[in-house]
Amino acid sequence: MTMLMKAKEAADQVYDSIRTKVKDLKQKGLQPHLAVILVEGDPASAYYARAKQKIAEKLGVTFHLHSFQADVTEESIVQLIVRLNDDPSVHGIMLELPLPLHLSAGKIEKMISPLKDIDGVTPGNKLAVVTGDAGLYPATPQACIKLLKHYGHPLEGKNVTLVGRGQTVGLPLFHMLQRENATVTVCHSRTPDIASHLAHAEIAFVAVGRPNIIRGNMVHSSLTVIDAGINEVEGGKIVGDTALDVRDHAAAVSPVPGGVGTLTTAILYENLLKAIAFQLGEVHSR
Ligand code: NAP
Repeated sequence: MTMLMKAKEAADQVYDSIRTKVKDLKQKGLQPHLAVILVEGDPASAYYARAKQKIAEKLGVTFHLHSFQADVTEESIVQLIVRLNDDPSVHGIMLELPLPLHLSAGKIEKMISPLKDIDGVTPGNKLAVVTGDAGLYPATPQACIKLLKHYGHPLEGKNVTLVGRGQTVGLPLFHMLQRENATVTVCHSRTPDIASHLAHAEIAFVAVGRPNIIRGNMVHSSLTVIDAGINEVEGGKIVGDTALDVRDHAAAVSPVPGGVGTLTTAILYENLLKAIAFQLGEVHSR
């Protein structure tokens, strides 16, 4: 029977460790503070921002949600980012996506200080993922690997098929998998027959953003599938990129919701603590 790789236990372990570190920092007089920027108009983003806020409260982290109306200008957001960059009481900055069409996420994100960039979106941190230098790496690819390892799967020497080469998940994950010494095949929108690549794989990571990209008849009984996709379907339901019948044919699969996304939020807070270490000069970034 297919194993369902739920992420709650792994996320709770991360949160336990964060709570202890937050207590230590507070005893030293430092109050961790995360600033999240939200442009209104996308209900899912607002939901994720609120979910992060609830977790911050449980962790003892100060959380400030900076909300803008949907018609906000890039300049106004950048002005806020400059102010947050300069504010020593703020340790992490994150921009919720997607943005309305008149705003460029790339232009805005690159204004975030790399030392406060808890989702690894600035040019310096993107480069660090490629080179393996110290930096703040994006949370979702880290979550993909952590979830796999939590279930006892090593990556070294494994045949891995990665479906999706997007900037947020697939591309950074590709570089991280190289450093784990996996043998990686990358599939994308121009790959004619994804199933033929899955046939040789022991592990698959899927990060496309379309429901049912991977179906039961494309997988096999020794394949472990980590699904990073988040898709809103009819009725507001959230599903991943893998069809439900993958559960009948693969060795193991991570659920959506309750899989990669659950661990991603925990890792964002882990990154906040790394950011604090960088800002205190305890670890040297690029
Ligand atoms: P993206 O930038 O839009 O990239 C999507 C990738 O999928 C591209 O490489 C694209 O190929 C490929 N693709 C599109 N259609 C395909 C098809 N029919 N067959 C095979 N590949 C196809 O996406 P992203 O920002 O990296 O995000 C990927 C997914 O992760 C989304 O569902 C997103 O919501 C989710 N996500 C999850 C979390 C989390 O916390 N779990 C966080 C962030 C994002 P080309 O390169 O050829 O265009």
